[in-house]
Parts: sequence; structure tokens; C-alpha cells
Amino acid sequence: MLRYFPASFPDETLYSRLCRYHRLSGQEVDRASLHELIGGHTHVVVSALPSKLDTLVSRLPNEANVSVDDIASNNTLLAFYTAFMPARRASSVYAAMRGDSASGIKMSIGLIASRLGGHNQLRFCRICAQEEYFTTGQPYWHRVHQLPGVLVCPVHKQTLCALAAETIELNRHKLLLPDDKAIAGHLDDIHLSDIQQETALRLALLSGDVLHGRMQTKGAEGIHRLHRSSAAAHGLIRANGRIRIDDLDQLIGLYCNCLPVNIEFSVVRCRLFDCALNLLRKPREAIVHPMLHIVLMDCLRCVEDRPNLQCAEAVPDMPLTSRARKIIDLSVLAEKLSFQGATLSGVAGVMGISVTTAAVEAARAGIRVSKRPKHLTAERVTDVGTSLRLGLCIEEVAQRHAISIVSVYRILRMDAALAQEYEAKLFALLREQYRQRYMDSRSDKAAYAWLRRHDGLWLTEQLKTFPAMRTRKRCVDWRRRDTALARQIFEIEAQLRSMPGKPTYINETKLKRLTSMADTIEHSLSNLPLTEAALKTCAESAQAHQRRRIMWAYCELKKRPDFHHQLWEVLRLAGVRKLHPSNEALAYTLL
Ligand SMILES: [Zn+2]
Repeated sequence: MLRYFPASFPDETLYSRLCRYHRLSGQEVDRASLHELIGGHTHVVVSALPSKLDTLVSRLPNEANVSVDDIASNNTLLAFYTAFMPARRASSVYAAMRGDSASGIKMSIGLIASRLGGHNQLRFCRICAQEEYFTTGQPYWHRVHQLPGVLVCPVHKQTLCALAAETIELNRHKLLLPDDKAIAGHLDDIHLSDIQQETALRLALLSGDVLHGRMQTKGAEGIHRLHRSSAAAHGLIRANGRIRIDDLDQLIGLYCNCLPVNIEFSVVRCRLFDCALNLLRKPREAIVHPMLHIVLMDCLRCVEDRPNLQCAEAVPDMPLTSRARKIIDLSVLAEKLSFQGATLSGVAGVMGISVTTAAVEAARAGIRVSKRPKHLTAERVTDVGTSLRLGLCIEEVAQRHAISIVSVYRILRMDAALAQEYEAKLFALLREQYRQRYMDSRSDKAAYAWLRRHDGLWLTEQLKTFPAMRTRKRCVDWRRRDTALARQIFEIEAQLRSMPGKPTYINETKLKRLTSMADTIEHSLSNLPLTEAALKTCAESAQAHQRRRIMWAYCELKKRPDFHHQLWEVLRLAGVRKLHPSNEALAYTLL
């Protein structure tokens, strides 16, 4: 049974909780923590659908108040992978996660065959991580960032940072957090063009809705109806129910131009058309990867069916219903783009549509789109670098130089030396802040913990200068406890000696045990001199115990009429096999 288990942060993966347990436990070896948590050090805990949930929960302390259901629903991607699945299949996935092996799960739900999400992946958002230093004190792995197809943080709209696949494979038995030094050199920022980032953001929001149960799909039938109605709204379904294959092909071709090119999207680009045909035709038993459903939903712009109005408001121009299609005036679009030289985002803003829609409609109508004017001149980039070196926060830098936050991050990513300097400057500022907090209040535990981890040398110096701060108040009155324990030991000895029947052996272990404070006595004997002396006085040696048994046996035998005063009779009743030399005189005196 574990002594503690960290409570879950919002949207945290189970792997992340295990990693935090490992870090808090102070264990040096990850495998030792794994052994404590799941009873084996060779098991690989994955982010998506981890197994051994029953084993883990059986080891958690009762105070943690954690159930298998809680973990499966709040710390794994089970809800995402089973959202479009028949209930029977979903329950078999859940059962497999409770068991000892996850090897069959990925195969049974088609993750391996689809080549999407088959690998374990670890991604995080740098802004989320920075914020978590101040809110929770520890950056952690979010569930939504680990979803296949999520390359952008749905909260900060920034591309994520991914741990290289080879590094994950090499460290599969390690418990790593985003700020672990071991992985610092193996993190890659995902790079996307503007249009790809916009698409990736919409997909991330949709994926988040599916994961958090904000999108009710009503099973395989429900999602089939949803895709059909969205396709019908685009005029992709004929009156007789057949699909307009050429139109669908064209739409998907245009849409794929907006998709990211790398990572799992290379698979989606190849398979989206075939998959769309399958999903729009009769619903089948075969399980389709949730990411393909989500990409098709986004492609067909079926977001108007989403019950989550909050997300729809966050991206107000996202829905493109049949009604919205009618109001796109191609002549206005052509005039603004070709003759007025407006940018895509400018036109999209004026016409009340998304940039993607404007790009797709312009491409469909064969309108040439002028390139975006460059605002980031070399001089401005240098100025931004200077501001960053001062340690200003990203928002402040963006405001000061009248550029977007995304551009500031891009400048940082382009210049590795600048990024390093900026990080060092932020660290120095943070360190100064914590040092000041500690100097102001020595009892500030959060400041102490931060300094202990990040600024150990300085803290050690401080503790040397003010050693009195480290002395802890004594909580136990050892003298009183010592007297009470010594008295108790004498009483126990007297009781043991006065017990009827054959004498029992009175040794130190038995005396300690009968005080019911054996642990305290053993660990704090230096604080208990009287107790120690009492133990030495009351405990008897082997020959003394033998002597007591011989005396008892002799007294017992004397009461019997058939006693022949033989030594063997006394020794047999006393249970003595070999008479100790020091007791020989006593035995012969008695007989
Ligand atoms: Zn974020």
C-alpha cells in the first residue's frame, strides 16, 4: 500500500500523475517507483490507454479516494477512443485497461491498422507549462495535448512541443515530466503555416470536445447521420441518396491543402477520401479511428450541430452551413483579392468568414491571392530580441512592438541563442523573486521547496548563516515518556513472572512488544535511558530462565505422590534437554 498518491491536476494523464509520484517520492530510480505503483518495473505506462488500473488502485491509500472509473474517465483517453464506438466494444476496451496487459487493446480498436496514435506520444504546450510553474508549481502532461491530430494547444492556440519518438522509446520505463532535464535536448517544436495552424486549432477544439464529452454523438448510427446531413448541406448527396463522388473528391482535395503535412496527417491525407466514402455510405461494424471522424466533421463543416456553444463562440467564423455558403459573393471576393490587393485575413474579416473558407473559395474560383505583406523587418526582429533579453513577458513584448504573440514566439524559435538567453533571464528573475520571498519569510515553504530544487547552493549558504532557523521544536516530552515506559516494563515483568503454569521466557523483544511501543523504543533508544536500563534489568538470560523452569517443575512434582526424586523427571517436566553447567549444583541440591 502506498503512503500517498498525488491528486489529479485538471486534464492530467495517468502517466503524468505517476511521474509526479516518482518526483515527490525522491526515488532516484524510476523503476523502483514503477515497482511500487504497479508491482512491476518492466511495464510501459502509455498516455492513451494504460492498463493495470486495478493493480494501481488496489495499492493506493484509502485517503486518496480514487476509483478505477475516476482514473479511466479523467486521466486516460478512453472517452476519446470510445466516443464513436458501439457500447459493447467500449466496455471491452475498459475491461482490458483494468487487466494486466494492454497488448490487445490497440489491435482490437484498429489503432495499429490505421497507423494513427499507435505510438506512445508526449506533447505539451510551452505557455501552459510556464503558467503551471505559478499555478500548480509543476508543469504536467495534459490529456488533450496527447490526442492524435492535436498539434495546437486549444487554450493558447500555440503549436505544441513534442518529445521525439526515439527518445520516448528509449525512455519507455522512465517517469518523465515536461521540465525533466533528461529530455530538454530532445524536444521539437511543431512548425505549421498560418492556414495549417488555423485548421489544426479547429481540429484540436473538436478533439477536446470529444474527449471531454461535450459532443454527444449518439453512437455509430448518430455519427453516420451527422456526416450524411453535413454532406447533404453541401449538396454532396443526390436526391436518390447516392454520393456525388467527384464533388466530394474535389472538396476533400481542397481541404487537404489546409492540413498539416507531417506526423499523423500524412496518413489522413492519403486516406481521407476513402474513409469519407465509407463513413457516408451504410454504417458498418468496422471501427474507424476517431481522428478520421473529426477531420471529416471539420471538412464538412458540421460544427453547427455541436452543442458546445462556448467553443463555437471561441471561433465564431468556423461554421459554414449551407446558409452561410449562399452569402459568399464570389465577385466581392475576386474584387477584393485581385483588384484591391487585400489579404486573405482582411477579406475574411470583411466578409465574416474564416480565412480557410476564403482560401478554399478563392482556390475553387481560380482567384489569385496576393502574398501577405511582411511586417517583421530585420530591424523590428532585432528590437524584439532586445526586449526579450530584458526578460519582459511575451504579451508585453508583443504589445510594445505592435506584433502578435505568435510572431514573438516565432522569433524566439528562429534564434536558438536568443531563446536560451530569454529562458536564462526568466529563470534569473524568478530566482530573484523566490530568494526575496525566502528572505522576507523563512517559513515560506513554497519558496524553500523551489530554492531547494533550483538554487541549492545559495540556500545552503543561507542555512549556514542562519542555522537557528533549522532547529525544530521538540514535539515529544521524552523524559516523561521514558519514565512511563520504564515503569510499564517493570510491571510487565512482574505480571509475566506471576503467571500460572510453566514459566515463559522474558527477553527484551517480548518486553518491548508488550509495551505496544516497540518501534518507538527501537528508533529512539538514545532518548530513553531509563527504559533501556529497565529492559536490561528485567530481561533474563537463558540459564536464569532454565533455573526458573527447574524450580517450577520441582515444586509441581513434589505435589504428586508418584514422584521418585529423579533428575530426569524434573528435566522432562521443565522441558530441559541439556542442563546448563551453572544450574547443575541447583539440580543436585534439590534432589
Ligand atoms: Zn497551452
